Amino acid sequence: MTRSSGSGGKVWWAELLPWEFKQRLAECPVAYLPLGLCEPHGQIAALGLDTIKAEWLCEQAARQAGGIVAPTMGYHIHESGYHARWLEDTVGEHNPHMTGMPPHVYLHFFLYQLRALVHAGFKAIFVISGHSGGNQFDLRRAAAAFTRLSSVPVYVASDPELVTGQYEGDHAGKYEISQLMYLRPELVDLARDHLHDIDEAGGALAIGDNAREASAELGEHIMQACLRQLIQEVERVPLGQDKPARSMMTYEMIEGLWQQLWQERADWVTSQPHEDQLPVTPGSQWKQAERALHQLFGSGER
Ligand SMILES: [Zn+2]
Repeated sequence: MTRSSGSGGKVWWAELLPWEFKQRLAECPVAYLPLGLCEPHGQIAALGLDTIKAEWLCEQAARQAGGIVAPTMGYHIHESGYHARWLEDTVGEHNPHMTGMPPHVYLHFFLYQLRALVHAGFKAIFVISGHSGGNQFDLRRAAAAFTRLSSVPVYVASDPELVTGQYEGDHAGKYEISQLMYLRPELVDLARDHLHDIDEAGGALAIGDNAREASAELGEHIMQACLRQLIQEVERVPLGQDKPARSMMTYEMIEGLWQQLWQERADWVTSQPHEDQLPVTPGSQWKQAERALHQLFGSGER
């Protein structure tokens, strides 16, 4: 399989003409799906940090290893389960200006996203999530079920997982703020640091303790290491499967997968608080999302 960059340097599905899409697909039938969201990263950084790094990794990988970048998913699992107490602790009762979704809505949609990619002709899918902390396990559960049915390999990783053992991921700390300083320096404004202490401005908004140690140089090392690992994974994926991939997946097939996932909902990482977390304070805006599945669907509490 030749994996060339071809097609006038364009790698985004949304920018390709049909013949260019067909050409890139024939050269390398790999799709990248960037996942991110808007959520607070302190007063000093843009809300879309997670989205921006996922898009960059997908775009760079497509340029270097071939393939096409699918439209970004800018909403992600948040608020529910373990997120709830974390939000109470780091955001409190302020408005996080966040694009969070509950897991059951997100995972159901995710299966249909994968279906759309297979229907478009892709033979391997790389899902890169800039938002991490647990959702990637649920995405992998859904992806594995999808692969069993479709024979299309789906690789899911959050960016810190790409650099395990080299760098430790965080939330809006030295790791993440460095990433944004490298990718989009104009979207970091350290002069807004003083707003952390001002309630009317929204407070600390989930800033990490060591954010002040961030640097563009560290961000470059982190992002380039993530990219190297992603490209290695792309080069490793078998595109000539033993079993031919399904080219048509019906709604019925996806709904069957969804029923199977739904049966496993008590095991979803994003649906429950961590065992060592304190409960959310009654009256907090985050209380309703603490035990999402228990409240919405009557599954048992742990
Ligand atoms: Zn982040």
